[in-house]
Amino acid sequence: MREPGFETLCQHAGEDPTRYLGAVVPPIYQASLFTSPDCDTFVHRAERYPQVYDYTRVANPTTDILQAKIAAIEHCEAARCFASGDAAVAAAILHCVGAGDHVVAVDTVYGPTKAILSNYLARFQVSTTFVPGTEVDDFARAIQPNTRLIFLESPSTMVFRLQDIRAVTALAKERNIVTALDNSWCSPYFQNPADMGVDLVIHSATKYLGGHSDLVAGVVAGARTHVDAIASREGSLLGSILDPFAAWLMLRGLRTLALRMERHQSNALAVARFLEQHPRVSRVHYPGLPSHPQYELGRRQMRGTSGLMSFELKDATREDVFRVLDRLRYFRIGVSWGGFESLALPVRFPAPPSPPECWGARIHVGLETVEDLLEDLDNALAED
Ligand SMILES: *Cc1c(COP(=O)(O)O)cnc(C)c1O
Repeated sequence: MREPGFETLCQHAGEDPTRYLGAVVPPIYQASLFTSPDCDTFVHRAERYPQVYDYTRVANPTTDILQAKIAAIEHCEAARCFASGDAAVAAAILHCVGAGDHVVAVDTVYGPTKAILSNYLARFQVSTTFVPGTEVDDFARAIQPNTRLIFLESPSTMVFRLQDIRAVTALAKERNIVTALDNSWCSPYFQNPADMGVDLVIHSATKYLGGHSDLVAGVVAGARTHVDAIASREGSLLGSILDPFAAWLMLRGLRTLALRMERHQSNALAVARFLEQHPRVSRVHYPGLPSHPQYELGRRQMRGTSGLMSFELKDATREDVFRVLDRLRYFRIGVSWGGFESLALPVRFPAPPSPPECWGARIHVGLETVEDLLEDLDNALAED
């Protein structure tokens, strides 16, 4: 028997219809608590889990199906879901550090991740060194005797920088440092960080895993020892659990993850190529283009590229970018990404080697008809 493929796992992993009257869609166990048939079962409920459930802050059958499925597609032993991607990021970090510890993180990580590390954790005597992360030496130089965690985001979600995941995890393992990677951009369809030695794989499931812009959720996946500790401490004690209804919605989203990612990729490649040859565009940041400085590295560690990219407009002011984006019809102005819809945001690029006042946009390429998206961008970019 062959190992089940990605699409098969999305449909079947973690599911046992005989446990719920044969229903092809697992039920939402929208219950805060579970009762025991007798006191003996109640007293031994922890040992009898998952035949016996107890309290939804600790575990819920709908969420458990989802967690088993995500663990399978991320090639991890276990996964724990959270109320948001940020809750998952915070849980993974808090699992690794205590007072006096040090973290090395990529300087282009998601803004709130940076805020947790630099502002919030400073109150608890946890310090962080931020590095560009495009060279393995960036990490080697930043590691201190008290470094407990290396936090990666590859590709990062504004300028889409990559880290050499295999090289960084090898370095970390020599020194007994845990590695975590925010894999939201790729989704497990395009990248499995655990196969490259990453200990904790994190998702904002609000993005591609949910995929329909109707839920907020996060995931931490990894070895059972890590995930069990995270589940019982940061998960159950701090309490930012995923609601069973949101878990059920994500199960529905995962049914089509592979199909959606393929279409995000083909639409995004067409858009990126269109933007790259457009006379008003000076630069496109997209790891799927051969012009991306780390294109070759990307091909070694990702199986494909998703729908989020950014581009710089030639000699543009903020107002120029506003004018272009306000003319868009299908790309709506908004944060987040990973859903069915195309989105755009004005962006000021701080990252070298761009000039200091360089304006452009971040866009999410959705699942609309690609010709419509190209025409929309073409109209918006037409000179005033
Ligand atoms: C959105 C996002 C998060 C945070 O996720 P929420 O679900 O919004 O809390 C974390 N990392 C990345 C890369 C994101 O884009």
